[in-house]
Order: sequence, then structure tokens, then C-alpha cells
Amino acid sequence: MTEQFHDPAILAEADAWRSRDLAVLWHPCTQMREHPDTLPLLQVARGDGAWLVGPDGRRTLDAVSSWWVNLFGHAEPRIAEAIARQARTLEQVILAGCSHLPAVELAERLLALAPRQPGRAPLARVFYADNGSAGVEAALKMAFQWYANRGDEPRRTKFVALENGYHGETLGALAVGDIPLYRRVYAPLLAEALFAPSPDAYLARDGQSAAGHAEDAADALARLLDEHAGEVCALVLEPRVQCAGGMRMHDPVYLKRARELCDVHGVFLIADEIAVGFGRTGTMFACEQAGIQPDLLCLSKGLTGGFLPLSAVLATQALYDGFLDDSRERAFLHSHSYTGNPLACAAALATLDIFEADDVIARNRATAARMAELAAPLRAHPHVADVRQAGMIVAFELAEGGRRGAPFDPARRTGLRAYRHALARGVLLRPLGDVLYWMPPYCIDEAQLALLADVTRTAIDAATA
Ligand SMILES: *Cc1c(COP(=O)(O)O)cnc(C)c1O
Repeated sequence: MTEQFHDPAILAEADAWRSRDLAVLWHPCTQMREHPDTLPLLQVARGDGAWLVGPDGRRTLDAVSSWWVNLFGHAEPRIAEAIARQARTLEQVILAGCSHLPAVELAERLLALAPRQPGRAPLARVFYADNGSAGVEAALKMAFQWYANRGDEPRRTKFVALENGYHGETLGALAVGDIPLYRRVYAPLLAEALFAPSPDAYLARDGQSAAGHAEDAADALARLLDEHAGEVCALVLEPRVQCAGGMRMHDPVYLKRARELCDVHGVFLIADEIAVGFGRTGTMFACEQAGIQPDLLCLSKGLTGGFLPLSAVLATQALYDGFLDDSRERAFLHSHSYTGNPLACAAALATLDIFEADDVIARNRATAARMAELAAPLRAHPHVADVRQAGMIVAFELAEGGRRGAPFDPARRTGLRAYRHALARGVLLRPLGDVLYWMPPYCIDEAQLALLADVTRTAIDAATA
């Protein structure tokens, strides 16, 4: 193995590959000027479980599940086989006016799995889009148009979202996001949204519990909805974890309160479980931890096990019924070319099969407990202000002297330094600012977890020294 790392022919090929990449590609979410000197470019020839394998055979642990999409490891054979089989049968067909069984079966199974709340009619309809942002856009448009179709409340045009929330990068999704780095430059293009304070437990006052802070945030949401009574069509939020906002976690009591407030105010609740769905926070869906059911549920990322882009928006029958009319204009005239792609649906069906066959949620409980043990010693690190966990997500908030609310000077690029250190030692962490996190594929094993914990510690040491 080590021989291969130094094979001159392989190294020359890898160099050529890097040059070709930098000559033609525009990488996502990247200041391209930083490539490759400040920001190394990890070349991936293949995937193997939780490993990414380079052209020289070098292995890197994918501790971020390739932007939170991968569930069971790379190149998982059961999903690969399901896609191959579907590709030989039907690769794609227009979903307007046509039907295919993978789309039907997936919708049936998603609805059967979706969160339920006693006394509430279950989610009953599935609309497909082809990525997370597109799913959020569809949900926002559905909530807005439901009221527009009714026509009796012309002032119901506003969305409420949470501070520090994230829902994607397209203009509609960005309008309900609150991460300045992604949003600021486009602000003049964005629809106006109202932002309610985040229930984020990291913002709790000294001595205040996570639940206490969540109650305060819910009180603030109540005031905002009172102030704008009759003007809001939907509240959109990420249940349990604001992921892109720095893996900030909140107490489920907030979700209960938000559900009640939406009911009182005639506001649709849109749960964006694009990142937290499919077992990521310990339950199949994060809403289950609050015992609530949203009116619209957005799913993507892990939906296909991380193989293909697909999103699904689950809606209640009442919402769906608001579009049934003799007029075509009252229909939901929204589509994407690849809506409900059969290959993606086949990958999603194989993913749901694996949840059953491998008893994934139960196995994750054991893995999450091991992650907690390995993360615990870092609480005592002099520059770690918070270690938090929700199931298969663990986050480490780095701060000067380990003091809450004392972030490092951004010019120090603390997170980036940790990233580079970890990458050189075979672990792909991709910090959010100065928040390091573990969000590994569920198949991560004991030896890989030990490597992850060890490299995280030395990366934090190196970056904060
Ligand atoms: C990633 C993400 C999105 C956007 O999904 P894309 O497929 O990247 O467009 C939306 N909401 C949340 C919560 C996400 O984490």
C-alpha cells in the first residue's frame, strides 16, 4: 500500500488530474482562489464504505457523509444494484400525465413512515422535486398558493423563518434562510420574510436550560405571529438541528409550541428535514422527538442513501384539496424536468429496504452512544466552548478560551486550519466556520471512530495553538 503512495507514474497522473480540474471546474461554495494552496483539493477515485480512496490508494474518512447525504457508506452494493436494475428497465419518464411504479411505491412508503400526531389527519400526498432547495421552493409555493386559491385572505402572503436557519441556495429558499454569508449579496433579490429568534440552546443565558431558552424563543414566535396575525401563510424551520447554521441544536419543546402556534394562527408548518431526516438525529424523523406532525415535510439528502438527487414534499390532504378546481390556474403548476426520476426512486426504495433489513435506527443508537463517549473528553479542551449531540451528529464549538460567545477572530481561519490538519491525517471534516462536527455514514466502525476522535483532538490542538 505505502509503495503505491509514492509510485511516480500515479503521482504524475494525479497532478495532471488536479491541473485539469483547476482549469475547467468552478467548485461549489468555494473561493476558487484558495485552491489549491490554501485549500487542498482532495482527489477521490472511488468510495468504499466510510472511506474515500484517492488515485494513489490513500484513504480518507468521510466524516461529513459527503455533505450529509450518505447514509450507509459509499458504493453500497444494494443501492448500486437497485439503480442498475432500474436503469435497464426505465431510466426516466415525464411524470406529468405518466405514472411509474417506483414513484408510486416510494410515495406509499414515505407516507407510511412519516411522523404522526394523534388527532391530526396524516400526511397524504407526495410531490417530487430533484434537490433539497427545489423541495423547499415547492413547499413555500404550496403554502402561499393554498391561501391565494382560497382568495378570502389576500394579506396571507408572508413567511416566517428562524434566525440562523438554512433552507438552500435558490432565491426562494435563500429568502427564508438567515446565514449572512450566503444571503447578504443577494438580499435585493429576495422575497421578504419575517425572522423569529432561534431556539438554539447555545444562546441560552447563563444557568438557563435548553428547554427554558426554547420556551423563551417560542414566546417570541407567539408575539411575532400576533403582531402579523392574518399575514403569514407558513412557518418554515429545521427541526432539532440548524445544520448549516453551525449544528446548533434545540429542545423539542420548541417544536411542540410552534405546532400549537401555527394551529392557532392558521399558519402552515413546513418541517425542513432535508438534513435531519432518515435517522440522522436518532429517530427516523426529527419531528417524532416532539410528537408533532407538520403540514408539509421536505425530504432530500439521505432519501436516496446519498446516491442520486431527489426530494419529496409530503403534504396533508387538506392542503392538497385546496388545489382541486375546474380552473387549471388553481393547480400547482410547478415542475422539474427530472421530477420523480425512476433511478432516484429506486435508490430511495433500496434505502428504505436497508433501514428495515439492517435495523438501522437501533444500530445507530449504539454508534451514537460510542460517539458520545469519544467526544466527551473534548469538553475539557481549553478552546472548546460546547460539545453537543443529536443522535448521529456531534458538534464541537471552538471559541477563545472555551468561553461561550467568544468566537475566534475570523482572520485566524481556525476552522480552516483544523480542516487542513485533519485532511493531512486522513479525515475529511468540513467545519462550519469554527464549528467542527461529526456526521459520518452510519456504517462507521470502531476503528474509524477512534481515528476520527484522535484526529479531531489533534486538529483542534493545532488550530487553536
Ligand atoms: C442541504 C439543505 C437544503 C438544500 O438542499 P440542496 O439539495 O443542497 O439544494 C435545504 N434545507 C436544509 C435543512 C439543508 O440542510
